[in-house]
Amino acid sequence: MTNDEIRIAVAIECGFQGCTDSHCDDRKAQHLHKNGKSFFFELFTLSNRRVPNYPLSLDACAEFEKALNPTPIDNEYSEIDQYADWLISMLVPPEFSNYNIAWLCATATPLQRCEAFLRVKGKWKEGA
Ligand SMILES: [Zn+2]
Repeated sequence: MTNDEIRIAVAIECGFQGCTDSHCDDRKAQHLHKNGKSFFFELFTLSNRRVPNYPLSLDACAEFEKALNPTPIDNEYSEIDQYADWLISMLVPPEFSNYNIAWLCATATPLQRCEAFLRVKGKWKEGA
């Protein structure tokens, strides 16, 4: 997935929606909607509403990390457990099995966090 695809996929999981309004005043710029307002991909003239740039921003990632469900559903791992497992699989090479895993996960980049989040949600797509 490209960074733009990741940004959009994470945003949709965070409650943003694509524009389906053919009369929308904001159609001239790439945008999504949330809570009845338009949010843009680039900083745009009079609006300071921007779709968070999840693949590049730890602050933006914190938004979805706080929203992960800690409760196991149907005896499956919780979203938090799955998220941590994906990060561990990305960050901990086999030869470092005695490494401090919590510390390694704390070093995850925004892009790695986005991938783990989208894998938990079943929205990660392999390939470019
Ligand atoms: Zn719109």
